[in-house]
Amino acid sequence: LTQLFRPLDMLGFVYRTIRQGLIDMAAMFRLVDADVEVEDVPGAPALHIERPGIVFENVHFGYEPDRSILHGLDFEIAAGETVALVGPSGAGKSTIARLLFRFYDPQAGRILIDGQDISQVTQESLRAAIGIVPQDSVLFNDTIGYNIGYGRPHETGPAEEAAIREAARGAAILPFIDALPDGFDTEVGERGLKLSGGEKQRVAIARTLLKNPPIVILDEATSALDSRTEQEILKTLKSVARGRTTLAIAHRLSTIADSDRILVLENGRLAEQGRHADLLRRDGLYAEMWARQQADGEA
Ligand code: ATP
Repeated sequence: LTQLFRPLDMLGFVYRTIRQGLIDMAAMFRLVDADVEVEDVPGAPALHIERPGIVFENVHFGYEPDRSILHGLDFEIAAGETVALVGPSGAGKSTIARLLFRFYDPQAGRILIDGQDISQVTQESLRAAIGIVPQDSVLFNDTIGYNIGYGRPHETGPAEEAAIREAARGAAILPFIDALPDGFDTEVGERGLKLSGGEKQRVAIARTLLKNPPIVILDEATSALDSRTEQEILKTLKSVARGRTTLAIAHRLSTIADSDRILVLENGRLAEQGRHADLLRRDGLYAEMWARQQADGEA
């Protein structure tokens, strides 16, 4: 009987290994919990970007037919602009990021990038144009070099190694890696070196720098890093945003006070938009959220 079970055990092991891989993928793109497949229209061209401006045009969306989440959302992000998206929990911030990545299609309205409707171009070209720095990056049980280069699995060799090094430098994690005895070959993850929250986020930033997309979505961590680490990460995130069109989903308003523009979302509608000082003067939802967070901070 044991003879019979050994191969089954082996199968179980293979199954668990594959399943773990899928879980890592899903967790890595926390924004991905889509269960409906969107499909390319036949003969769809690739997205062609010269000026990566983003337009949401009267976008209506709900995950379920009888529950609408976004109710006719209109906004624009100019090419190269950094816009922060804020709003109470459940307002629809992550939903906007998911629609931009086209994990779902709006029920009405359009989303345009550089004038092209994203539902009419290939998903491959769309996703190649957008980088995501998620809140919680998942690391693969592999080397730190692999974890940074992940997403470019077919490229190896000295040029790729140099590019990975440059990305690590840009994410301000190079001195940390160089100080490890095995450097970029250090095994990380469950079975290797455990990285802190801040270090993991730097790995995600390095991945994005390596991908070099014209558009980035920054999903700010809700989990508190210590304030020095947070300040350092913010500095690095700003360097990722430079020269790109950036949508920063923010939970703590202190981190986005100097954005070009702040969009305030409430119940799937744009309640207010403007710069920090303008919004404080308006004395609306943003001013209220700001006052509450200041009070919490002092408490
Ligand atoms: P938070 O700041 O808490 O992350 P958010 O503004 O990002 O919130 P979303 O995640 O966009 O909010 O969610 C908006 C609404 O959509 C919520 O009411 C949520 O329950 C609902 N929702 C999110 N994902 C799904 C899903 N996969 N299926 C059904 N409803 C969903």
